[in-house]
Amino acid sequence: MVDLLGRAGQLEKAWEFIQKMPVAPGINVYGAMLGACKIHKNVDLGEMAADKLFDLEPEEGGYHVLLANIYAIASMWDKVAKVRNLMEKKGIQKTPGYSSVDFKNEVHTFFSGNTSHPQSDKIYAYLEELIDKIKEAGYVPDTSSIHDVEDDVHEQLLNTHSEKLAISFGLINTRPGTTIHIRKNLRVCGDCHNATKYISLVTEREIIVRDMHRFHHFKNGVCSCGDYW
Ligand SMILES: [Zn+2]
Ligand SMILES: [Zn+2]
Repeated sequence: MVDLLGRAGQLEKAWEFIQKMPVAPGINVYGAMLGACKIHKNVDLGEMAADKLFDLEPEEGGYHVLLANIYAIASMWDKVAKVRNLMEKKGIQKTPGYSSVDFKNEVHTFFSGNTSHPQSDKIYAYLEELIDKIKEAGYVPDTSSIHDVEDDVHEQLLNTHSEKLAISFGLINTRPGTTIHIRKNLRVCGDCHNATKYISLVTEREIIVRDMHRFHHFKNGVCSCGDYW
């Protein structure tokens, strides 16, 4: 219910719903609330949901990053720094993001900005061309995702989030028309999600990404999640 209301932008109603729940709301409920606050840029309710999450699961870095991201979108940089400091104090480290793809009975795993794969040169060269192509089709890189799941500014500028590398590898090594299957350990960031939609369009490939939250089925420039995840 909270997810539905949040998705529709009815954040106040979602929050009210949480207050009236006959059972104690768990991590999933507040997590959905925080996610919705990020999408609809609501700092106040986001803070309240994050407070509850930090009580329920103080060690989870993902929620801290999500809150920092809400502040970043609102250009509240002092608050972004505060969350960072809090994470440092608690010794919370972010899980490094990685994406894997199966190929010829082998699992190929890519980390963001990583260059250790034997085909690395080829993958980066291909990705560069691909980014040019999708830009022509209308893709605009989203720098607001800088503070998202894998928030290295440099990586972001280079478009090298792990799923982009995994998708490039898949495209290079399979025949035209073959569906690409990717698994990602974290949530797909907004920019990669948008880029993947365009990649499915320009390459005429179906791309299925299983991330931390759900399956995304990209086809002809749209995703099955309807841009909500
Ligand atoms: Zn990304
Ligand atoms: Zn999606």
